[in-house]
Amino acid sequence: MLQKLLDETMGTLHKVTERSPSGLHMHETGTVFQIGGGIARVRGLPGVTSEELVRFPGNVMGIATNILPNEVGIILLGNNERLAAGAEVRRTAREVDTPVGEGLLGRVIDATGRVLDNGKALRVIQRWPVERPAPAIIDRSPVSEPLETGIKAIDALIPIGRGQRELIVGDRQTGKTSVAVDTIINQRDKNVICIYCAIGQRGSAVARVVDTLRKNEAMENTIVVVASDADPAGLRFITPYAATSMAEYFMEQGREVLIVYDDLTRHARTYRELSLLLRRPPGREAYPGDIFYIHSRLLERATHLRDELGGGSLTALPIIETQAQDISAYIPTNLISITDGQVYLSPTLFHKGMLPAIDVGKSVSRVGGKTQYPAFRSVAGDLRLSYSQFEELETFARFATRLDKDTRATIEHGRRVREILKQGEHHPLRASEQMVVLKAVNAGLFDRLPLEHVEEAETAIQQRVISELPELCEQMDAGETLDKPQWQKVLDVAADVLSGFRREEQE
Ligand code: ATP
Ligand code: MG
Repeated sequence: MLQKLLDETMGTLHKVTERSPSGLHMHETGTVFQIGGGIARVRGLPGVTSEELVRFPGNVMGIATNILPNEVGIILLGNNERLAAGAEVRRTAREVDTPVGEGLLGRVIDATGRVLDNGKALRVIQRWPVERPAPAIIDRSPVSEPLETGIKAIDALIPIGRGQRELIVGDRQTGKTSVAVDTIINQRDKNVICIYCAIGQRGSAVARVVDTLRKNEAMENTIVVVASDADPAGLRFITPYAATSMAEYFMEQGREVLIVYDDLTRHARTYRELSLLLRRPPGREAYPGDIFYIHSRLLERATHLRDELGGGSLTALPIIETQAQDISAYIPTNLISITDGQVYLSPTLFHKGMLPAIDVGKSVSRVGGKTQYPAFRSVAGDLRLSYSQFEELETFARFATRLDKDTRATIEHGRRVREILKQGEHHPLRASEQMVVLKAVNAGLFDRLPLEHVEEAETAIQQRVISELPELCEQMDAGETLDKPQWQKVLDVAADVLSGFRREEQE
């Protein structure tokens, strides 16, 4: 009996469709016996392989996932409204793939290549599998170049390198998407290709991001890949993998690519939903046992390739939403351990108006300083340490009534630094713009300026330095170091601007 079944199976394997001598097409098929919640359970399909694409009537596709002795669990990639028990399923002998190529730039699409921006149909030349192996260790090279976000608090204190994976983590409505979108905007003139992958968000939220990118002229080099909360769970599940294949296409040509996954909490929940419906055993927080693996195999694909392989890079910024600031929950800890650092956004800072609400103490970049340009490092150097010391001191100082002169000076200086680290949305700054103000605040030039004038003074300094010392600014943007006399020139201009503010004050 078993032998007969085996023979039958082996016979159909690799011959999914075959032409019989009479000229008829033969297909290997199965029959749906239960359907719902984005999952179909099927009998038949004896030769189906794991992760194989199967086709339902009405061209609805599915992925064969749970292959058991007498049934196959299939994740649907399309709507199942018109499907019912008894429907026929066919094997395709293909794996799930996604369009890749230059033609996708500037477009809003889904993982299957469906156009969502009312534009022309895609001109697709190639399709790549959504699941591809991560580059081998030997093919990777160290992360050495900065990926400039244009956000002072990140570039100075938690620098990100090209090829790094940096998690953006925080409660709901703390500015996670804004940090990612601002980083994309900052790449518009840097020749970095960006992919914004929206998973399980409301359509209106995605539309807002697309609109922001368009308004800031950042759409040209960007692909937006969307699976909204209205899409089938299967599509939501494969979308980040598909977006990564699109990114790899460019990386393998030696290009620099940035990918944002917004967000992986929803991705994990989607997978939990599918796994429970597939009757896989639930584990911690009801997530299945392989929940770590679905994210690690995704993020392992981000890297910096060796020069012999073109030297391209793929930087990943996955986003995770925490609940009640609990970064030790299951999914956040998993992702923290997979990535090379995290930018932590705090609701407390957000409500205090300290925007972007980056909690410097809880954020790290494990590649960090090595990728910063030397000039930037010399400016940002010990800012991180002195800033954390200030925060500690400030907390204590709240209880003390009389403070000595030095402590008061340290606190006043720290407050100026904090004011400088504030930054508006969608207003990324060039390296030179960041460096000149950081240099000035480090030199203590702001210390006597009232806090409410700091922002205004900052802009004034940036404008004056750029108009008076354009070559030095170019040098800074290119990552070259400045010598002492050159820095002095910058400081002189800054001091001059600030003395103007003080004079105003006295009048
Ligand atoms: P969600 O959990 O809903 O995805 P989120 O954490 O992604 O939220 P955002 O949507 O990025 O948060 O931002 C929340 C709100 O804060 C938005 O209205 C945004 O305009 C505002 N915001 C974010 N960053 C800044 C900033 N630096 N300056 C001013 N406003 C900001
Ligand atoms: Mg968001």
